[in-house]
Amino acid sequence: MNHAERREMESVLQAKGMKPSTDSPDLEIVHTCSVTGQAAAKSRNAIRRAAKNGKHVIVTGCFTGTDPKVAMELGNTIVTQAGETPMLERFEDEINHWLETPSEQNEKPKTTSLPLATLPSSPAEHTRAELRIQDGCDAHCTFCIIPKIRTTLRSKTIEDIVTEATRLVELGHKEIIFTGIFIGAYGHETALRRKQKSPEQEHLADLLDAVAQINGLKRLRISSMEPGDVTPVLLDAMVANQTVVVPHLHLPLQSGSDAVLQKMNRQYGVSQYLEMIAMVNERLTYDNLPPAITTDIICGFPTETENDFAQSVSVAKQVGYLHMHTFPYSVRTGTAAARWEQLHPTVVNDRVQQLLALDDVLSLLYREHLVSRQVEVMLEQYDTETKYFKGRCEHYAEITLKSTGTPGDIVSANVIGLDGPKTMAKTALQVL
Ligand code: SF4
Repeated sequence: MNHAERREMESVLQAKGMKPSTDSPDLEIVHTCSVTGQAAAKSRNAIRRAAKNGKHVIVTGCFTGTDPKVAMELGNTIVTQAGETPMLERFEDEINHWLETPSEQNEKPKTTSLPLATLPSSPAEHTRAELRIQDGCDAHCTFCIIPKIRTTLRSKTIEDIVTEATRLVELGHKEIIFTGIFIGAYGHETALRRKQKSPEQEHLADLLDAVAQINGLKRLRISSMEPGDVTPVLLDAMVANQTVVVPHLHLPLQSGSDAVLQKMNRQYGVSQYLEMIAMVNERLTYDNLPPAITTDIICGFPTETENDFAQSVSVAKQVGYLHMHTFPYSVRTGTAAARWEQLHPTVVNDRVQQLLALDDVLSLLYREHLVSRQVEVMLEQYDTETKYFKGRCEHYAEITLKSTGTPGDIVSANVIGLDGPKTMAKTALQVL
């Protein structure tokens, strides 16, 4: 049905002498679908992308019926299926109207000033390539020295990142990881959301869209995000590019206690964090397999009571992390928290041990979702004694398997069971 409608609309455009263009077209027509939640996410993302690239966006298809308000907000004009006049006739009217009153050129996306890295020229040494997209932070968490060292926020332009990522792929990297000091502030001049001049501009989603199109790139991963930066628009971009963008997010919690988060000067509370987790789970669950979520938690922050710590344990259980990076709080001279009364090291160490034990349990529970499923594993380390490879699947779990491939290959494998911290798999034959 959608294909037939598309052909009919193309005929209308051709009859008016209009031609398709991939290079900054004057008009973009997004023919949408909303038969599933994922289709709706892809539609929203396609409209948003078109609004960035084109000068005028007409939205057609089912999504204009199920979510007309959103379609109208994202695009310039919508042509719904419903109505007495046939859809094709109304579409033609809209085209005529646009031809008579062409729209103004959209604002150019913001450009920023982190220079392009010297492009690498030697072959890939590591299977996964980290690509720094952003630098600097001015959020001033009370335990962190970074804002004193790297105060100015800078981001590379999308064009430069695409150039750098393309080179990395040409050199043999199949997976790219976006890194930065505060990735959620990509394209913004401050990491403080309340001070951002245009918080509604979703530079990171645009970047994800652009890099995911690079030929030969198999996986794209974002290294770390704060709750306020994980927006519906960003998740749409992840869903729309799900063949490349992996369903894994690293979302530092630091503490499950609002009192401690406030003392840390974090920009979120526990309820906001949990709401974001619910949204991530809802949007990034594919084929009944929930996304992998990893986190950082600091144990023994000054002022952390037994009750505060118990709340961190409780939040961790609610989220069900694939992995928790557990850090004992350590004093950083020059930070506010360094001046506060410190907890006794045995208390700190005891809490670390409790979280490490919980990490084993939660990791096992998450990885049970993978058993009996087919996953794609990027081969990393080969153990010459055991003759087993270790590698990571899309959901970031470390997989142990036998394979005739070489590091950097992505192989299809069946997860056959868990052996404590190990997730065992058998490889299928093909190397992707
Ligand atoms: S947001 Fe991260 S980099 Fe910035 S101050 Fe806090 S911990 Fe440091």
